[in-house]
Amino acid sequence: MSARSFDNHFKDLFENTSDLIHFLDCDGNIQLVNPTWLQTLGYLFQEVSGKNICEFIHPPCIEEYIEVRRKALKNQEIVELVTTLLNKDGNEVIVEGQIGGAYDSGNLLHSRGVFRNITFRKLAEKKIEESEKRLSAFFNNGPDAVIVINELQEILEWNPKAETIFGFSAVEVTGKLLSETIIPDQYRQAHIRGMNQFLQTGEGPVLNKTIEITALHKKGHEFYVNLSISHVRVKGEWLFIAFLSDISERKKTEEMLIRKEAELLQAKILEEKKNEFISIASHELKTPLTTIKAYAQLVLSISQDENPHQLNPYLQKIDGYADKLNYLLNELLDVSRIHAGKFLLSPKEIEFNSFLTEVIDSMQHITSPHKIILERNEHAKVLIDPLRIEQVITNIISNAAKYSPGKKEIIVNSSSNDNKIIVSVKDFGIGILTEKLTEIFNRFYRVDDVSKNFSGFGIGLFIASEIIKQHNGHIWAESKSGEGSTFYFSLEKVM
Ligand code: ADP
Repeated sequence: MSARSFDNHFKDLFENTSDLIHFLDCDGNIQLVNPTWLQTLGYLFQEVSGKNICEFIHPPCIEEYIEVRRKALKNQEIVELVTTLLNKDGNEVIVEGQIGGAYDSGNLLHSRGVFRNITFRKLAEKKIEESEKRLSAFFNNGPDAVIVINELQEILEWNPKAETIFGFSAVEVTGKLLSETIIPDQYRQAHIRGMNQFLQTGEGPVLNKTIEITALHKKGHEFYVNLSISHVRVKGEWLFIAFLSDISERKKTEEMLIRKEAELLQAKILEEKKNEFISIASHELKTPLTTIKAYAQLVLSISQDENPHQLNPYLQKIDGYADKLNYLLNELLDVSRIHAGKFLLSPKEIEFNSFLTEVIDSMQHITSPHKIILERNEHAKVLIDPLRIEQVITNIISNAAKYSPGKKEIIVNSSSNDNKIIVSVKDFGIGILTEKLTEIFNRFYRVDDVSKNFSGFGIGLFIASEIIKQHNGHIWAESKSGEGSTFYFSLEKVM
C-alpha cells in the first residue's frame, strides 16, 4: 500500500468510526478530534481546538483522567479508562476507551484517546440495578410473604416475611415441595390437580385472583391467609409467584362479630319468647281462676236455699281447678329457681319398680280416657329425688295424653342397661317433626302448629330435662310426625 493510500484509509477510519478520537499536545491541549467526537459533544472544531481536554471532562473525573494519562505517557503504555465527558449542554457522556502516546526517540509527539460512548449501556445497567434493588427491597422488606415455585412445585424463593408468617426458614424449605410444607392436607390434592390442569390447558383455578384460604404453620396449626398467584415463563419453564398475607387476626374479628350478632339475635329471640310467654301465662292462669270464681259464685247462690250435698260436684270442680292453678304456678316457680341456680334435689335411695307402679296408678286417675299400660317394670335401686322424678313422669305422661286426643293407650316401659335404668313413654298422637326433637326441651319452646290447638306453657319438658340432668341422666324423644312419640329418660342405678 502506498503512503498516500494509507493516509486515505486512515482518514476514512478517523472520519467515519463510531468511536470518539482525540489527539492532544504534551500539555493536554486539543490538536485534533474526529467528527464523532464533535457530534457526540455538540461542538464545532474551532470551539475546541487548542483547549485543554480537562475542560470537556466531568469535573469529578478530571483528577483520575490526569493521573491515568500521566501514567500512560510516563510508562509509554496504553491504559484503559472509563470516564465521563460533558457535552455542550452540560449533559454527561460516559465513555470507555484507552489513552496512549506517539513518541519519537522517546520524546512525546502527541497523546491520543480512543473512546466509545457507553452512556446508554450504563444508563440501562443503572436502571436494571435500580429495579433489581427495588425488587429486592420489596422481596426482603415488603408486607407480603413471597414464595416462588417451579412446575415441579419445588420452592425456589422464600422471602423473610414468609419466614415470619409460616415459621420455616428459607434454608429449611428451599428445594422442598410446596404441598409438603404450608398446604394443609385437605387442599393438597386440589393443589396438585390445579397445577396439572394449568400445565395442560394454560388455565388454573387460582391463578391471577385473590382468594382467602387456610395455610399450615411450621408448628402445625392452620391459619387464614390472603393468596394471589402470578405466573411467568422463564427460559422455557413456568414459575409461579405466590403473594400471601396473614389475615388470621381479621378473620378472628370477623368471627367474633358474627358470634356477637348471633348472640344478640338469640337474646332478641329469647326476649320475644318471654313476651309471648307472659301473654300465654296470663291467659293460662286466668282460665282456671275464672272457672273457680264462677263455681264459687254458683255455690254461694245455691247454698242459700239448697241441700248442701248438691254442692259437692261444684266444690270438687273448684278443688280441681285450684290444683291446676297450683300446678301451673309451681312450674313457673321451678323455672325461676332453675334460672337462679336454686333448683336443689333431695335424693333418697328407693326401689324404682314400686315407685313407678305408684306414680302410674295415681296418673291413671287424671289421664282417663287414656289407658296407661305398664308393659315392663324393671327392679332396680336408684338414688333419686322421688318428687322431682314423679314430676318428670307426670309431665311426660300428661303430654302423651294431651297430644294424642282420641287415642286410647299410653305405653310405659322401664328397662335396664348396664348401670342405667331407662324409662319410655309411648303415645300414638300427633307426633313431632324430627328437626324439632331437641328444641322441645328448650325453655318456652312449643311447636308452632301445636300452640293453637293445645294449651300449655312450653316449660314442662325444660323443667324435666333440668331435673334429669341434675340426676346425671339423659332425656330424649323419638317421633314421626302424625304417628306418635316416645319419650325416654335414663337414671343411674345404685350398684
Ligand atoms: P307444653 O306446656 O307446651 O306441653 P312442654 O315443655 O311439656 O310444654 O312441651 C313442649 C312442646 O313439645 C309442646 O308444646 C309440644 O309442641 C311438644 N310435645 C311435648 N310432648 C309431646 C307429645 N307427646 N306429642 C307431641 N308433641 C309433644
